[in-house]
Amino acid sequence: MYWRAAAWIGIYLLLVLAPQAVLLLGEVPPGRDFWWNFSISLGFAGMAMMGVQFALTARVRRITAPFGIDIIYLFHRYLAWIALALVWAHFAILWVGYEEALGPTIDPREAPWELTAGRAALVLFTLAVVTSEWRKQLRLEYGLWRYAHVAFATLGFAAAVAHILGIGYFTAAPPKRALWLSVTLVWVLLLVWVRVARPWSEKRHPWRVVEVQPERNDTWTLAVEPVGHSGLKGFMPGQFAWLTLRASPFGLREHPFSIASAPEDLPRIEFGIKALGDFTGRIGEIRPGETAYVDAPYGIFSIDRNRDAAGFVGIVGGVGVTPMMSMLRSMAARGDRRPVWLFYGNKSGEAVAFREELGCLRERLDLHLVHILEQPPQDWRGETGYVSRDLLERHLPAELRTRLHHFLCGPAPMTAAAEEALHALGVPAHRIQTEVFEFA
Ligand SMILES: Cc1cc2nc3c(=O)[nH]c(=O)nc-3n(C[C@H](O)[C@H](O)[C@H](O)COP(=O)(O)OP(=O)(O)OC[C@H]3O[C@@H](n4cnc5c(N)ncnc54)[C@H](O)[C@@H]3O)c2cc1C
Repeated sequence: MYWRAAAWIGIYLLLVLAPQAVLLLGEVPPGRDFWWNFSISLGFAGMAMMGVQFALTARVRRITAPFGIDIIYLFHRYLAWIALALVWAHFAILWVGYEEALGPTIDPREAPWELTAGRAALVLFTLAVVTSEWRKQLRLEYGLWRYAHVAFATLGFAAAVAHILGIGYFTAAPPKRALWLSVTLVWVLLLVWVRVARPWSEKRHPWRVVEVQPERNDTWTLAVEPVGHSGLKGFMPGQFAWLTLRASPFGLREHPFSIASAPEDLPRIEFGIKALGDFTGRIGEIRPGETAYVDAPYGIFSIDRNRDAAGFVGIVGGVGVTPMMSMLRSMAARGDRRPVWLFYGNKSGEAVAFREELGCLRERLDLHLVHILEQPPQDWRGETGYVSRDLLERHLPAELRTRLHHFLCGPAPMTAAAEEALHALGVPAHRIQTEVFEFA
């Protein structure tokens, strides 16, 4: 997997740097100095990065598999800032040193259209980044933000391509013009694939809700089965799906959920969904027989990616238990007797989703179940409070620690504390994996 990750990083650098190298090679317009060329080069680099941003979130499994989709989204987020800084630096250098290049006015009715296109791209890219970074502070509802983000990015890219071709520096020669046009074409194809072809395929492969069952802690089990097709391929326990209910797959209304059932239960799949917000709060209203759309499987949070481990440790809080449910159910179905420690944090005993099933799984697995309650009942003899180094040290055998694979999933303070504790106990970084239930 490491060489694949390295190969993708290499391809990324090539995609970002190649257009620049090709465009700048040989053809330097006369009378332009270093800073001028530097500014243009920054513009091209920023633009190439913006283009690749689309590929990063296109959920291409080959790209996401070596890293994990959450890491790719994080990449996308940080690279967006770098790309934005480059295009602003491109503009700033011209503004400071070559004001005449920016035209006599910014009034779009009088300014040359290619300069207006450049300014529009700058504003749209800035809006795309700022509304993403501060979505919550700006009180932008997630669904609305997604529409806005797609619109800002798409229009921004189109305006930037128009700016480059309209200005024509370095792109006047037909082969270089062809290069930018083909870059644009690749991007348009990607967009068509993500926004049209994939939803179309989802539409042609629908699923049906077969069960909606209340669990403890405002959590619902929602089960779906494929209609007229064979369902998921290549699903590993612990992976997640994008689920659409009561909406078209074209509508950008999908939500990510871990698949809580095991691959051995296919073609049926189950989700454990906690009622928290607009979408999840209405799961209880969904009725068997309704249509669902599923785009899956995604993610690298799985026992099957760590087959060499001597056993597993799950450190989870609340609904973060769902990927572990999938892994435990799968191990039970496979008769896998490797030891598993599940540290499961909840507010109270009543809030422990899947409590009864976990009790039953102990009979079929070498499962050490450690409930950690924040507000325990008076007669509680188990663990209380939060995950700590001391707590983990008391339960995990020292001789096995470095050979166990650790899966962390839950509220950010809990996973951060668990990571720190595991590091302090000498667990190597590659044996600790964290699933984040939030991308943005
Ligand atoms: C990999 C992964 C696995 C997950 N697995 C589970 C699971 O097994 N069970 C479970 O209950 N929850 C899971 N979640 C969380 C779940 O996706 C969110 O709770 C849900 O999308 C919130 O939607 P809402 O409209 O009910 O809440 P809102 O209150 O509207 O949103 C709460 C927050 O959830 C996030 N969110 C909202 N809509 C989306 C969306 N369409 N796509 C991505 N994020 C969104 C945003 O950060 C938002 O601020 C998972 C999330 C991820 C990323």
